[in-house]
Amino acid sequence: MKKEYLLTPGPTPLPPQISLAMARPIIHHRTPQFQEILKEASLGLKWVFQTVNNVYMISSSGTGAMEAAVINLLSGGDTALVVQGGKFGERWTEIAKAYGINVEVLDVEWGKAVNPAEIGKRLKANPQIKAVFATLCETSTGVDNDIQAIAAVVKETSAVLAVDAISGLGAVDLKTDAWGVDVVVAGSQKGLMLPPGLGFICVSPKAWKLVEASKSSRYYLDLRKAKKALDKNDTPFTSSITLIIALNEALKIMQQDGLENIFRRHKIMADATRAAMLALGLELFAPTASSDGVTAAKVPAGIDGEKLVKTMRDTYGVTIAGGQAELQGKVIRIAHMGFITESDIIMGLSCLEKVLTLMGYKFTLGAGVKAAEEVFLK
Ligand SMILES: *Cc1c(COP(=O)(O)O)cnc(C)c1O
Repeated sequence: MKKEYLLTPGPTPLPPQISLAMARPIIHHRTPQFQEILKEASLGLKWVFQTVNNVYMISSSGTGAMEAAVINLLSGGDTALVVQGGKFGERWTEIAKAYGINVEVLDVEWGKAVNPAEIGKRLKANPQIKAVFATLCETSTGVDNDIQAIAAVVKETSAVLAVDAISGLGAVDLKTDAWGVDVVVAGSQKGLMLPPGLGFICVSPKAWKLVEASKSSRYYLDLRKAKKALDKNDTPFTSSITLIIALNEALKIMQQDGLENIFRRHKIMADATRAAMLALGLELFAPTASSDGVTAAKVPAGIDGEKLVKTMRDTYGVTIAGGQAELQGKVIRIAHMGFITESDIIMGLSCLEKVLTLMGYKFTLGAGVKAAEEVFLK
């Protein structure tokens, strides 16, 4: 018998109310009943995105919303600046290149946050740059970038700022309108406590001008279609009815909690997880800008990182994430976002300690759990 604990930075666990909401009989999407649901979801999304602008729902994983951002803002031959400090920054580059966009890459060492002044320098040096693509939480390295400072720099130019907040939204603060972020992209399966399958995107008036001017071929991801439909409380194609019903449940839970409490809870879990890693003698992969949504720590010398993750999952039912791309086998990543709670973190840490011990790593058993408990008790 095995009980499953999901501590990965997407998908994340589902609150039981959300699972139950998805068990309801399906209804038709072109009905007043569903229009009410869609209206509520749209309002709730504006709240969680901290914007007065429309938030469009796309039936895709988060990457579909990233692609929507690229093709609706730019056309082939346009120039974009991509902040690239991990696997998800690279994704912006890959999508833009697929559509013939000239990409200027601002390479940031993995594990570090971008220095916003560097973005300012690049924008000054190349006034052709129409859009800057950045990442709030670079999930592959466990880094949170300073979006407020980045937006302050980009705002002063004619370029627009598009932020991948797929794993950051609902975990760390992102004041879209107040900070002047033009486009925010998110996905359902991370901080929003939903299954995968919904992408979200909001667009400022400054960026909407680019949407209207873009010559990119677009059909399913055409935001002009999405706007026309949403203005009539509709979606351009069949809505992801079940996921949108679940979204309303998630938003209800989040609204009861309040954004400030949500962010505080994430920070406490992050502090506890970071303290635990250090107490176990594990080095943080991103010591200076570590994310409040996910902690990445280096696998200690002599320990097989892939085997560690696999044993925790297959033998004990605790799923954490390993490293991606060049970090494969070199880091472990423990998520503390969405419906992941303090007790889940304690559970995950105790399992990590057990498997590390079995693999021959030397440390004081219980040190990680103790360090985390001390943070939680403060
Ligand atoms: C998970 C994630 C994505 C990818 O989203 P999919 O839902 O897998 O398409 C993109 N960016 C970041 C920062 C992520 O964490």
